[in-house]
Amino acid sequence: MRRFLAFLVLTGLAVAGAVWLADRPGEVTIRWQGWRADTSVPVLLAVLALLLLALSVLIRLIRLVFGAPKRWLAALRLSRQRKGYAALSDGLAAAASGDAARAAKLARKADKLLHDPAITGLLSSQAARLSGDDHQLAERFRAMTERKETAFLGHQGLAELAVKAGDRTTARAEAAKAFDISPTAPDLSVLLLDLHMEAGAWAEAEQVARLARRHGSLSEADFTRRRALILLGRAEDSMAAGDEAQALDWAQDSRDADPQFTPAVALAADLLRRRGKGRKAASLLKSAFKTHAHPLLIAKWLTLGEGESALDRVKRLQDLSQANPASPEGHVALAEAALAAQLWGLARSHLEKALTQRPTRTVFQLLAQVERDERKDETAAHGWLMKAGTDSVPEPAWVCGGCGHHSPDFALCCPACGAAGRLEWT
Ligand SMILES: [Zn+2]
Repeated sequence: MRRFLAFLVLTGLAVAGAVWLADRPGEVTIRWQGWRADTSVPVLLAVLALLLLALSVLIRLIRLVFGAPKRWLAALRLSRQRKGYAALSDGLAAAASGDAARAAKLARKADKLLHDPAITGLLSSQAARLSGDDHQLAERFRAMTERKETAFLGHQGLAELAVKAGDRTTARAEAAKAFDISPTAPDLSVLLLDLHMEAGAWAEAEQVARLARRHGSLSEADFTRRRALILLGRAEDSMAAGDEAQALDWAQDSRDADPQFTPAVALAADLLRRRGKGRKAASLLKSAFKTHAHPLLIAKWLTLGEGESALDRVKRLQDLSQANPASPEGHVALAEAALAAQLWGLARSHLEKALTQRPTRTVFQLLAQVERDERKDETAAHGWLMKAGTDSVPEPAWVCGGCGHHSPDFALCCPACGAAGRLEWT
C-alpha cells in the first residue's frame, strides 16, 4: 500500500514536471570545440536523465564483474564448510559405533575442510582414542584446550592420558584445570581428589571433596571417609614437622569426622598418652573398641600400662574386652597376655572361643604354645601347627581396594600401588 502511494506521488510529480516544462518552452545552444548543438530544455533534460541512467547501469556492471571472484570464493568456502560439518557429524557417528578406520578417515577430511583443530578436536580425539594412538590423542587434546568450549574435554583427556602413562604430577595439574572449568563432572572430581591426596595436598583435597559432595559426585559416606583420611594426613604431616599439639588437634578432628576410623583413634590416643592424658586416651580407645575391635586399638591400649606385670596386663585387657566381649581380637589378645602370665586355663578358654569365631594361624600357634608351655606336649603342639596349615583362615589385614595388596599396618597411600585412601581392614 505504501509502495503504491509512493508510486502515485512520484508519477504525479513527473507528470506535473512534464506539464510545467511544456508550459515553459526554452532553447539551449551548446558550443564546444567548433561543434554546435541546438535543442530545447525538455530534450536536454531527457538526455541528461538517460545519461545518468546509463552511468548507473555501467557502475552496476563493473561491480558485478569485479565482485564475481569474491562471491565465488565465498560460495566455495560455504560449500567446504558444509562438507566439513557433514564429515564431522558422520565421523562422530562412526566413532560412537566404534568404527575406528572410518572415524579416522572422516576426522582427516573434516580437519582438511574446516581448518580448525579446536572444532574437529572432539572427533579427532575420538578417532585417535579408538586407534590407540596416545601421542596423537595428546596433540588433539592440547588443541582442544585452546578453545573455551572444548577446553574442559582437552584438560580432562590430558589428565587421563597422564594417569595412563603413570605421570601423576601432570595428571594432577591437568585435572585441576579441568575441575576449575567444570567442578560438576563426577569421575574427574574423584580422580582429582585421589591425586591431591596422593600428593599430600590436604587443603586442595578437602576443597575438592567439599565441592564434589555439593555436586553429588561424592556420597555422604564417601565424603566422611575421605575427610577423616585427609585430616589424618594433616595430623601425620604435623607429626613429621614435630608439632605434636597440632597433630593431636588434626587426629581428634579426623576421629570426630569418622569415629570408626581406627588409625585416627589410635593416633589421637597415642598423642593424648604422650601429653599425660591417659584417662582421655583410654576412654577414646574403649569407645572405639566397642564398635570395632581392632588390634591397633588393643596395641595402643596396652601402651597405657607400659612396664606393668604380666598379671596386670591381663587385668588391663579384661577391662578393655568388657567393651566388646564377643570379639575374636579381644580373645586372642587375652590369650597372649594369659600365656605370658602363665594362666594356662584362661589362655585355653579364650583360644577355644577364638577358634570357633575366627581360626587364624595365630590362634593355632598360640594353642600349640599352650601345649608346649603347660604340658610340654610336643605331639599336641605339632598337631595344632599341622592344623594351622590346613584349617586356618587368613589373618585380617589392610587390603588395598586398588591392587589387592595386603598390609599389616595402615598407610594413607597403598605401599604397593600408591593409591590414596584405598586400604580397608578386612
Ligand atoms: Zn594398592
